[in-house]
Amino acid sequence: MEVSSRRRALLKVIVLGDSGVGKTSLMNRYVYKKFNQQYKATIGADFVTKELQVDDKDVTLQIWDTAGQERFQSLGSAFYRGSDCCVLVYDVNVLKSFETLTNWHDEFLKQVDPVHPDVFPFVLLGNKIDIDGEKKAREWCSSKGDIPYFETSAKEDYYVDDAFQSVAKVALQTDHQHDM
Ligand code: GDP
Ligand code: MG
Repeated sequence: MEVSSRRRALLKVIVLGDSGVGKTSLMNRYVYKKFNQQYKATIGADFVTKELQVDDKDVTLQIWDTAGQERFQSLGSAFYRGSDCCVLVYDVNVLKSFETLTNWHDEFLKQVDPVHPDVFPFVLLGNKIDIDGEKKAREWCSSKGDIPYFETSAKEDYYVDDAFQSVAKVALQTDHQHDM
């Protein structure tokens, strides 16, 4: 086998997205196979490395974390320099973190200024898909003594009539006998 084809590729990957979306957690999960429920703003190191194979090629991923500085959008040029891929992360439960993706995308391209910005490799991760909003709401409702729950869309008119039918029904149980 040719020596050059076995050479390990060193790839710099940077992870961007709003504070709290789970960037550090994703790196810890991937590299150390663990997860911490407690909020830890930083892992202390500038980057972690992970060795893997892509097809038959040996690869070292050097994954850079923001150490919490993303809150100030001041990550410095060393952070961005020489990136081979940018991983964007948002929290699927937080609309705002999706909306700011465009800022992160633009900021990355501004800082790195790649020769061909249209084809620079990005990967988007929608994190925290384990959180079940409906389950949380149902549990909350049952903890408050079986409050009725409807998932609605005012825009698409989903379950709006049903919801207010239920409102009328439970209101009727109170039955204050207002004079009309
Ligand atoms: P970062 O600021 O983007 O680095 O976010 P962190 O990795 O510090 O995570 C912020 C909080 O979200 C922490 O409390 C994590 O435990 C939590 N978290 C991260 N990823 C997940 C996930 O996939 N599911 C859930 N339920 N919580 C997560
Ligand atoms: Mg972090």
